[in-house]
Amino acid sequence: MSAESVQESEFDVVIVGAGFAGMYMLHRLRGMGLTARVFEQGDGVGGTWYWNRYPGARCDAESLAYSYSFDAELEQQWQWSERYATQPEILRYAEHVADRHDLYRDIRFEQTVTSAAFDQESGRWRVSTADGLEATGCFLVMATGCLSVPQLPDIAGLDSFSGNRYQASLWPRNGVDFSGQRVGVIGTGSSAIQAIPVIAQQAAHLSVFQRSPNFSVPAHNGKLDQDWVDAFKKNYREHRDFHKRALSSGFGDLEIEPRDRTPQHESGHELSEAEFDALCEEYWQTGGARFMSVVGDALSDEQINARVARFVHNKIRQLVDDSKTADALCPTDHPIGTKRICVDTGYYETYNRTNVALVNLRETPIERITSTGVQLSDRHVELDTLVLATGFDAMTGAMKNIDVRNGAGLRLNEAWSEGPKAYLGLMPAGFDNLFLITGPGSPSVLSNMLVSIEQHVDFIADVLEYMGERQSQRISADPDAQEQWVAHVNEVANETLFPKGGSWYLGANVPGKPRVFMPYAGGVGVYREVCDDVANNDYRGFKFA
Ligand code: FAD
Ligand code: NAP
Repeated sequence: MSAESVQESEFDVVIVGAGFAGMYMLHRLRGMGLTARVFEQGDGVGGTWYWNRYPGARCDAESLAYSYSFDAELEQQWQWSERYATQPEILRYAEHVADRHDLYRDIRFEQTVTSAAFDQESGRWRVSTADGLEATGCFLVMATGCLSVPQLPDIAGLDSFSGNRYQASLWPRNGVDFSGQRVGVIGTGSSAIQAIPVIAQQAAHLSVFQRSPNFSVPAHNGKLDQDWVDAFKKNYREHRDFHKRALSSGFGDLEIEPRDRTPQHESGHELSEAEFDALCEEYWQTGGARFMSVVGDALSDEQINARVARFVHNKIRQLVDDSKTADALCPTDHPIGTKRICVDTGYYETYNRTNVALVNLRETPIERITSTGVQLSDRHVELDTLVLATGFDAMTGAMKNIDVRNGAGLRLNEAWSEGPKAYLGLMPAGFDNLFLITGPGSPSVLSNMLVSIEQHVDFIADVLEYMGERQSQRISADPDAQEQWVAHVNEVANETLFPKGGSWYLGANVPGKPRVFMPYAGGVGVYREVCDDVANNDYRGFKFA
């Protein structure tokens, strides 16, 4: 290897992933005068928004909140066209940020990281890609995403289908024309619920294969009014501050005056049946995922949760003409909100179309996929095109795919064999100089992810600065501090109804995956306070060498 290429492969930090997390991490490190190499398996930036190009894909947190806050000039200049931006618009935004901050030159695209090993002696991570590129870094940052590894369904005969088959999270770049096609969609999570109304408008016929119904609330999406946006942007800093300090997810809201969005009523028990329904109606009419903030105990009190669920069941029955279909669409197997609530545009109404049929797999399970369609227990459904919207190996899937080894040769997968553990969701004990962005044990997928990503990136940048000032080269998480944090994460989860959801938050959608509630349910504001307190106390729970 020439002296030049050795030089080229040694960095202060190696980052895996060029979604919003990897991009901002790179920008922060550059600002500190550190060198970094990013490896990304796709051929562009944007992560989630690069891969998930299915029809109808858009964010479910308002665009004005689901965007970076670190660049105050950019947030004033960038014009979001809709309340919830579409995938192409969010991808354009990511590309614009990469251009604006000149990020491309440090990113190597189409490079899938396959292994990362920490060398005790040199104190460096050696990171290798499938194509044989190597880089070493004093620190390794996993910005690999919580929802970046598609999960294929374990259905017999899947590969025998001779028509077109698409996966929502690996959608073809040039789109798909469904005109005249008999289409089948397997799955009814957030991805499917966004795609189904759009596909239905184009396809000759659409069959939706539903195993478990999900709760969905209306997005009430629409074009943003320029005068309104201008007024909102005058208070952008204050809005951002409320998102960051929020008691819950940091989703923000659509009011010009920034204010704390803590639910007005701590408990639904304070309200009569009529008052409760009126409040649910108000939140339903406002739209969006903050529906679950209707009262403070909607996600912790079973009785109150059941009242919210009943309200939504009634809505579904009003929106869907056929009562049998409506009944099948009403979820009764999990408390509302304990699986990520979906946000839709015309989802339930789509079942009133004559070209759409709901196939209830609880009544007629799939036996196998055939070359021409789906064989159910009682009939065969002929299809030209099959769409899989069957989710992700969430939160740990991307790291599981990389052979990560600490200085003693221990693999992260072994260390996590009974479930992922990381101090503050930021660093697994025993894995020196390895940082995770939005890792298990942090608010991550229960939050507006841009808020959580920025907070983690800033925390990592600050701790590296702290280490630089002390000429410290090594950071590790204290195993006791990690145990205490993991216990706290479980304790907080057990105070809520989340563990009853049987969702991907728990790994329940992946056969054999340990059942552990992975995200921190204490809210982004509380979590930030904990991290700030840790930082202000000489990074309590971390050890330096
Ligand atoms: P990602 O965007 O997932 O980026 C990770 C990157 O790492 C990917 O580009 C991947 O290719 C790369 N990578 C992974 N493994 C490797 C490897 N071994 N080698 C090289 N590269 C690798 N969150 C919200 O808060 N609001 C929303 O509205 C919202 N909508 C969503 C819609 C969809 C369809 C999905 C799937 C998720 C949504 N999310 C939403 C969550 C979303 O993932 C985050 O908001 C955010 O985009 C995550 O950014 P990230 O950089 O952490 O991860
Ligand atoms: P998901 O919520 O995990 O949904 C997967 C769906 O596939 C479920 O309905 C599941 O049914 C079904 N499924 C899986 N295997 C099956 C099988 N063998 N047979 C029949 N059905 C099967 O995945 P997702 O929709 O991709 O969403 C994942 C997450 O990404 C969301 O929760 C959200 O956080 C994020 N997301 C957000 C948006 C947004 O609105 N901005 C859009 C898309 C995704 P069961 O429930 O029965 O397992």
